[in-house]
Amino acid sequence: MEHDVVVVGGGCVGVSTAYHVASRTDLDVGVVEKEHHLAAHQSGRNSGVLHPGFNYEPGTQKAEFAVEGTRRMKAFCADHGVPCEEVGVVVAARTREEERRLDDLAAQADANGVDATVVDGKRLRELEPEAAGRAALHCPEAASVDAQQYVYALAREARDAGVTVHLDTEVEDLERASGGYRVETDSGTFEAGVVVNAAGLHADRIAHSVGVGEDYRVVPFRGEYYEVRPDRRDLVNSMIYPTPDPELPFLGVHYTRRADGSVIVGPNAVLAFGREAYENTDVDVTDLRDAVGYEGFWRLFASPKMLKVGASELHKSFSKERFATAARKLLPALRTDDLVPSYAGVRAQVVSRDGELVKEPLFVEDANAVHVLNAVSPGLTCSLPFGDHLAERVEALA
Ligand SMILES: Cc1cc2nc3c(=O)[nH]c(=O)nc-3n(C[C@H](O)[C@H](O)[C@H](O)COP(=O)(O)OP(=O)(O)OC[C@H]3O[C@@H](n4cnc5c(N)ncnc54)[C@H](O)[C@@H]3O)c2cc1C
Repeated sequence: MEHDVVVVGGGCVGVSTAYHVASRTDLDVGVVEKEHHLAAHQSGRNSGVLHPGFNYEPGTQKAEFAVEGTRRMKAFCADHGVPCEEVGVVVAARTREEERRLDDLAAQADANGVDATVVDGKRLRELEPEAAGRAALHCPEAASVDAQQYVYALAREARDAGVTVHLDTEVEDLERASGGYRVETDSGTFEAGVVVNAAGLHADRIAHSVGVGEDYRVVPFRGEYYEVRPDRRDLVNSMIYPTPDPELPFLGVHYTRRADGSVIVGPNAVLAFGREAYENTDVDVTDLRDAVGYEGFWRLFASPKMLKVGASELHKSFSKERFATAARKLLPALRTDDLVPSYAGVRAQVVSRDGELVKEPLFVEDANAVHVLNAVSPGLTCSLPFGDHLAERVEALA
């Protein structure tokens, strides 16, 4: 089989890139996805929150993509009947120190052009009567979206623009060939002029197979969710977040009212013993060996703070009581039996060889290929402008 452009990965980044390439050019585009469904991994196993951009440093690509992505995705969902509810978020501050950080977040929001204001405890309780906190940042623009329906709607648009989607097609090897690449899959060989590697949790391996991005590796972190029992959903009106700790890569446990009205609590961030290890008992020996054999992994966990957080997250994974205790910090009225185990997702957390968590989107262009090494959170929110940007790069290479 032959395509001008082969996109590896049917998540939000791959599908968005394919859609944008096909919309801007006459190139023949194929998406290859190893699963039987699109959005089977990160893109369909996340919180589904459109993060409007108050949490990202002004001037960064992440801030730019998040602000534009939120706006574009709301419009896309409205046009395509994808459930998307602008429920808003409160970021609750429980200490004086956290309260000071809210001012920084408000300044960031302002610089990014996002509507967000610091409110006092009284206003916080008008918005979220059960939330703990002496103050909060209130951002009404945050929204909840059905991520899977979004990816499917985008894929329909992509198909209408001429993209072919090959499901159940796993890329096993990538080889440079004259005029582009030979993409070996378990369903046959594809000849491609340009390859876009948007393989999420496996993107580093595909990149490494052609000598790209060897200073980066995915270290998988599972995020587990509980759902609040339907008869207790009224504990939460919108989304309640803790004030982020700038030194930690992941936000603590938080509450999200989803587009279907359910309320989820989580995710935590547990070191996963496999890139698709959705249960805390799942182990993939190859993935585990890959992680622990990586010097970046040991450098990351050489930090006492990371070790402490790692141990505490692991406890929360194995003990519902501990998870509930963490969740009660934001919502004291929550009872342990209000929580019902729900789904999990695994984050493709990219760690550099020197042990740094890579926080910005990262892609590398090399010999007729674009490798998306880090489609970091909020990758769902960013997916339309990010895919558009990647399509521009593909157009330049083709
Ligand atoms: C728990 C969690 C919560 C999150 N919450 C949010 C949120 O609320 N808001 C937000 O904006 N972002 C959120 N994110 C981040 C967001 O989900 C990701 O940034 C985004 O989905 C990444 O998309 P992707 O297309 O790069 O990866 P993926 O969705 O993982 O897609 C990669 C695809 O490539 C396929 N693939 C892999 N290897 C191969 C191969 N060899 N051959 C063929 N196909 C292959 C996979 O099957 C997969 O479908 C969250 C992520 C997680 C895990």
